Amino acid sequence: MEIKAKKSLGQNFLQDENILKKIANSIKTNKNDLIIEIGPGKGALTKYLKEKESYLICYEIDERLKEILKKHEDNKTKIIFKDFLQANILEDSKNFNYENIYIIANIPYYITTPIIKHIINLDNLESMTLLVQKEVAERFTAIPKTKAYGSLTVYLNYYFHINYLFDVSRFAFNPVPKVESAVINFKRKKEKLDVKNEELFFKLINDSFKMKRKTLKNNLKEYDWNKIKKILEKNNLNENIRAEELSLEVFRDLANTLA
Ligand code: SAM
Repeated sequence: MEIKAKKSLGQNFLQDENILKKIANSIKTNKNDLIIEIGPGKGALTKYLKEKESYLICYEIDERLKEILKKHEDNKTKIIFKDFLQANILEDSKNFNYENIYIIANIPYYITTPIIKHIINLDNLESMTLLVQKEVAERFTAIPKTKAYGSLTVYLNYYFHINYLFDVSRFAFNPVPKVESAVINFKRKKEKLDVKNEELFFKLINDSFKMKRKTLKNNLKEYDWNKIKKILEKNNLNENIRAEELSLEVFRDLANTLA
């Protein structure tokens, strides 16, 4: 049966077997790990993930793909037809006795951030490999003082080591999308920075980037500027600095001095 790609679900199916193998090989799992694939589509990547013999749960929103995907099911592989953002991973995986979780997905760019927010606090999450729009990959891997660096970059760097793995040409997909893609990997940091109060730390990051063109001082009017100034001086930073020039460690120091 021919399934017409739905644009509204971001359906661009990967056709290049070498790229698919490379994505699957970017994670090293053992038989007691759990791989979660988001948006398996027609199962192009699923077949390579199954070769790893780990537990595997695939979440696909489009029920038209049931017939194609259901054939992958077995005692270690579940295919669940559901919006991943509504999924209860702990409930769905309760019969699998797994150690670490590996997320892998070729996902539409418009749900990249909601997906990350849905899984970021998952216990046992070891790594995420995402095939995303190239601009999104650049934003996630951006370093301070670049245009792409923003609150999400800082936030993600707190949890993960983020690596830009490789580019994927738009011609590797069918239908061919308008944009280029790239594969990135997020590896859970074994030790997080010593932040005294996480809630304050996250709020400070958000507030610092509230108005991107404004200086830090303008964005942080509700905070004790004298304390902030001391930390900036300690790091040889100017008072008129913008948030995009601050590293994760400086945000940590600022949050800890304000805590
Ligand atoms: N992994 C396949 C491949 O590489 O060929 C398909 C990738 S396609 C870019 C994205 C897939 O995600 C589609 O199959 C789409 O139906 C599915 N999808 C979109 N939104 C979803 C959601 N919220 N939850 C689960 N799957 C979703």
